[in-house]
Amino acid sequence: LHWAQNRQNLGDPQDWLRAENLLPHQTVEKLTKWTVYQDEEHAQVVPIHNGRGPWESEDPTQHMLESRLSNTQVLMPGNSRAVEVDEVEDLSQLGEVCESSVLLNLKKRFHRDCIYTYIGNMLLSVNPFKPLSIYTEELRQQYQGKEKQQNPPHVYAIADVAFCQSQNSTQEQCIVISGQSGSGKTEAAKLIMHYLNSMYQGRNDNLRQVKPMEVLPILESFGNAKTILNNNSSRFGKYLHIHIRHGVVVGTSLSKYLLEKSRVVFQANEERNYHVFYELLAGMNEWDKQDLYLQGAETYYYLNQGRACELQGKHDKQDFLLLVKCLETIGLQTDQINTMWAILSSILQLGNICFSSYESESFEVARIFSEAEARRVGSLLQISAEALQTVITHRVTETTYDRIYCPLSVESAIESRDAIAKALYSVLFDWLLERINDWLIPTEMDSTVGIVDIYGFEDLGVNSFEQLCINFANEQLQQFVNKAVVTQEQEDYSAEKIQWYPIALQDFHVCLDLISARPHGILRILDDQTCLPQATDHTFLQKCHYHHGNSPYYAKPKIPLPVFTIYHYAGAVTYQVHNFLNKNHDQFRPEVLELFARSRLQMVSGLFRKVQERYMQQKELGARGRGHRQQPSTVAAHFQQSLAELISRLERCKTTFIRCFKPNYVKLPGIFDVDYIATQLRHAGILETIHIRKEGFPIRVPFSYFMERYGVLLPQRLPNASDKEQVVALLETVGVEEGEYQLGITKVFMKESLYQRVEDRWSST
Ligand code: ATP
Ligand code: MG
Repeated sequence: LHWAQNRQNLGDPQDWLRAENLLPHQTVEKLTKWTVYQDEEHAQVVPIHNGRGPWESEDPTQHMLESRLSNTQVLMPGNSRAVEVDEVEDLSQLGEVCESSVLLNLKKRFHRDCIYTYIGNMLLSVNPFKPLSIYTEELRQQYQGKEKQQNPPHVYAIADVAFCQSQNSTQEQCIVISGQSGSGKTEAAKLIMHYLNSMYQGRNDNLRQVKPMEVLPILESFGNAKTILNNNSSRFGKYLHIHIRHGVVVGTSLSKYLLEKSRVVFQANEERNYHVFYELLAGMNEWDKQDLYLQGAETYYYLNQGRACELQGKHDKQDFLLLVKCLETIGLQTDQINTMWAILSSILQLGNICFSSYESESFEVARIFSEAEARRVGSLLQISAEALQTVITHRVTETTYDRIYCPLSVESAIESRDAIAKALYSVLFDWLLERINDWLIPTEMDSTVGIVDIYGFEDLGVNSFEQLCINFANEQLQQFVNKAVVTQEQEDYSAEKIQWYPIALQDFHVCLDLISARPHGILRILDDQTCLPQATDHTFLQKCHYHHGNSPYYAKPKIPLPVFTIYHYAGAVTYQVHNFLNKNHDQFRPEVLELFARSRLQMVSGLFRKVQERYMQQKELGARGRGHRQQPSTVAAHFQQSLAELISRLERCKTTFIRCFKPNYVKLPGIFDVDYIATQLRHAGILETIHIRKEGFPIRVPFSYFMERYGVLLPQRLPNASDKEQVVALLETVGVEEGEYQLGITKVFMKESLYQRVEDRWSST
């Protein structure tokens, strides 16, 4: 370390700490007095509080900031690669577990482009924000079928373990990837898919090998967008279910969780709409664009609200060509693809419809300012432009004998226009997913690997209903991870018949209950209010304040603004209640469905007739279930149900976790913002996870592998002895202290201290 090399001239430790970026800045500012202890090998900086000795508090600096001064290299477990002496590949091997030591370890590795680190079976990944050359075919092969300890930590190792277990066990395997927005979840999912896909390529030629990778560009164009947190943020959650037969990926099924529809009509500053719009405008040739009435992205209200139509580093034109190729690959016909473009163009035309107001029967009502856009939509989607204008500016009420058209105010007409645009996009998105699933679906399979990649926790400039759902999903997933980490440790020990008493990880149920418990969880109140005709966003907010005003996880605004704040596990987020009820209701109006169902374009009418049928079925079910307490068919209710299904499915799987970290807010390579990562470590319960692992016996090595590697340390092999007996003899030779190891059925479980002695002895032979 820099300060260590110049330790004759140490200077002010505070300056050094600031420069090294090892601790949160506020903490550094608070520290004024220090004692520096140092010897040949170590230096410790111990803060002094009021001159009365070491500071006894929860502050991370109370822990020793330790650094070895020598530049020695040692060999790490199971291979012959050199790693710096104070750096570990598995955090449960850290001598001193505290926030600073974990941060220091991750930081050093990050700057050497070692972005992966383990805690037992969990993989931590720090987004490098630059391409790394660690995803080559040679490397892929290096991981194939190997023990985890034989290679440096890598997402390939996780994929390999899941694959091997899927081949050897009937239990479904699942890799759950979590982390905040922009931390690298989707990239990790892609790498896993790539790994599984290139496995055993060329074998089993008679099996149709389906490459789920080929649909990814479609999903990204239609489901990803630039947000302030991530230039390629997934705006829907996905569970990829990879089907394998005889070791070959033969198909995939894909489940989606809540697409953020509001983005189609609204983007906050510096954000974009879904990529596909910009790609279409950049990539389509001028003639085709003219046919679709398309112009530059800046001319569309739905595309330029964030004032960020151009996205540096993204090549919309090339991405469009790739998208078209992928659409053809999944078997879409030219007329289907053309209809997709017509739908997208119609959405853009809708967004440019403006209104003026005029007085009608002493009410201010909306009139469409220019009819050109509506006429274009009429021609693009082969519907009546007049009927479109009427449904945008009127609400229709059906009576037994008649239809009554009630004119809307300008504000309501804008909402009506936006609702149609969102309906078009979401119907198209669902149709595309069906097509993708049709293409990916296998005939037969013998095993599966699941990959869960849902949107990360987010706190955007404006947080609305979607952010509440996203953050709720994250909270629930983190709760699942916490429970599973403890259970898995427990299982590991009991499988080897070793006694162990786990410590529990943080429980988030109070905050989860605040959001979703019956009868007064926020989403439950929202559902009740959504079903009441006279309720508004305001009455919803008042009810939330009334029921949760005293909750430690909830805050009312200090001045009467239409917002509420929730203290999530990953931070406080303030939500604007504007449009909550509308977004939650999200039913297409029957007259809108009817209009599009009458389109002369077969694909458009087909799409909307299907929605009509679904509504009819729901209505019938509702009528039959009247009198019973029915689950309302709102977005929130549907979302909670699909999340509950996801969690219960995960509970039946053998899960492996990947936790992704975002190293800095500015999305740049080479910057490891300690404060930023420290917060994410806390939210992910990383220290507790390490402690759980470390409290027990973090190093677990199969007897046979142990003997294969360290056998040379045993002066003489015992005749007729089992591997297990040989391991005991070997450990006695090295010298053990009480409680330093336990023997399982197939593995030896060791404390780090013993393992280090064995390793040291082995490397000096
Ligand atoms: P969200 O929750 O918003 O969808 P995410 O966690 O899925 O976020 P990604 O889209 O996977 O985040 O990653 C964001 C960006 O970070 C990527 O577009 C890519 O530029 C970069 N990135 C992530 N992982 C890696 C990696 N392993 N190597 C290089 N770059 C990466
Ligand atoms: Mg993503």
